[in-house]
Amino acid sequence: MRQRDDQIHDFQVFIDGKWTPSASGQTFESQDPFTAKTWARIPRCGAEDVDRAVTAARTALESGPWAAMHPTQRGLLLRRLADLIARDADHLAFTEVRDNGKLWAEMRGQCGYIPQWFHYFGGLADKVEGAVLPIDKPDMFTYTRHEPVGVVAAITPWNSPLLLLTWKMAPALAAGCTMVIKPSEFTSASTLELMRLVEEAGFPSGVINVVTGFGAEVGAALVSHPGVDKIAFTGGEGSGRAIAKTAADTFKRLTLELGGKSAQVIFPDAKLESAVRGVVSGIFAASGQTCIAGSRVIVHESVHDQFVEEFKKLASTARMGDPLDTATQVGPVTTPPQFQRILDCIDMARTGGATCVMGGGRATRPECGDGWFIEPTVFTGVTGDMAIAKTEVFGPVLSIMTFSEEEEAWRLANDTPYGLAAGVWTQDQKRMFTAAKKLRAGMIWTNCYRTVSYMSPFGGFKASGQGRESGQEAIREYLETKAVWIDY
Ligand code: NAD
Repeated sequence: MRQRDDQIHDFQVFIDGKWTPSASGQTFESQDPFTAKTWARIPRCGAEDVDRAVTAARTALESGPWAAMHPTQRGLLLRRLADLIARDADHLAFTEVRDNGKLWAEMRGQCGYIPQWFHYFGGLADKVEGAVLPIDKPDMFTYTRHEPVGVVAAITPWNSPLLLLTWKMAPALAAGCTMVIKPSEFTSASTLELMRLVEEAGFPSGVINVVTGFGAEVGAALVSHPGVDKIAFTGGEGSGRAIAKTAADTFKRLTLELGGKSAQVIFPDAKLESAVRGVVSGIFAASGQTCIAGSRVIVHESVHDQFVEEFKKLASTARMGDPLDTATQVGPVTTPPQFQRILDCIDMARTGGATCVMGGGRATRPECGDGWFIEPTVFTGVTGDMAIAKTEVFGPVLSIMTFSEEEEAWRLANDTPYGLAAGVWTQDQKRMFTAAKKLRAGMIWTNCYRTVSYMSPFGGFKASGQGRESGQEAIREYLETKAVWIDY
């Protein structure tokens, strides 16, 4: 098992190819969610740092080696970065476990898989093709060309810092954009560690810059900066709305990956054991702090009791504890405000009339130490009108509802402002295709849950956002199309 040291590590930001403190010299602290102790000091950037970073990104976009670089060469740089990430996967994973409290096993797996995004989009870099149009005008030659959208502000949340950054970086760089990245104030360290590899891979100065600090300070300065052409944001609905309003003032391009309240629909013909395993991992992985958490189960009334019993049996075996221990299955919550928010949501469910059949509070087991742990929690008797059925908890809290008719299941599943993901458990093939049509969500998982790939688009309907990350669609989010007309 990897060991923590008890030092406080000092980080600098990466602007225009140089490591530097913030312009003000101020810093803030980052806590390890398992020990609840400060482990890192991060520069507290502001508008001046943003201006330097955006200027560097714009200069790199418009002149110098990146602007002149053939897409094939850009692709090779991305692939070189992929190889360096694979080489340093242990270190990146360890950094994120300390900052975020994610399980070592999950993080090590993630850091082993992240290079695939850089390989995939590195491969796409020189396959962005325009078209010659068979235009309806005589003596006109008309074609399209695709150009990088420009300087991208990439803003990421704390729950999966490296993965969600990768989903932006790989397609943006493949498209030829330059970037200013703003990680969450709770988890900046792994993004800064990644910049060491960006430097080693040989990306020209200014192509990728990182500023760190608070959303209301450096984040707000970044999204309102006139030198930014596009914002790629992952985070909460409230921040997303504020950012969309700011972006509207200057018509910046926008990708939003926001929250969810995803349903898992269980039909009587489902293989119950698989469904139980899928729902347990769907809600308790990363202590429920995933945007795709399957936080609402909609189970047929005829299998409800059996489902709840088997679910409790499996979930109660989950081992909580130090995320660095490979035997741990449920780790701490990442931040104190999130910890409190989850407890508030549990109270809200109780006062709303739901029945708590498992967990329901802070975990005080000795193996949880001083960490911010919540017991895996399950509510039954939830109805569509309860606040717990509509509110994103972003924690290990499952709401169970019942249905009797198929149409009712689709209606309940769609009865949410969100539309990120949905799971369906059935052996009926016709129903699998019906589910794919009826459910209003960006990802529909059938007899599985939480699978993602660099090849498959990821993103939401409704309040879950706009645009897609991963897959071929993602690179288009970072391109503008020009129609060129020549009268010959
Ligand atoms: P958050 O919105 O509080 O913060 C996200 C990022 O935005 C942080 O870097 C923050 O500093 C920055 N920020 C906040 N306000 C800003 C502003 N006004 N201007 C510019 N930047 C600002 O979200 P969080 O608490 O870090 O993350 C949790 C949320 O993220 C959840 O709602 C979750 O569902 C969502 N999420 C969505 C996806 C997805 O792909 N759909 C993935 C992971 C997380």
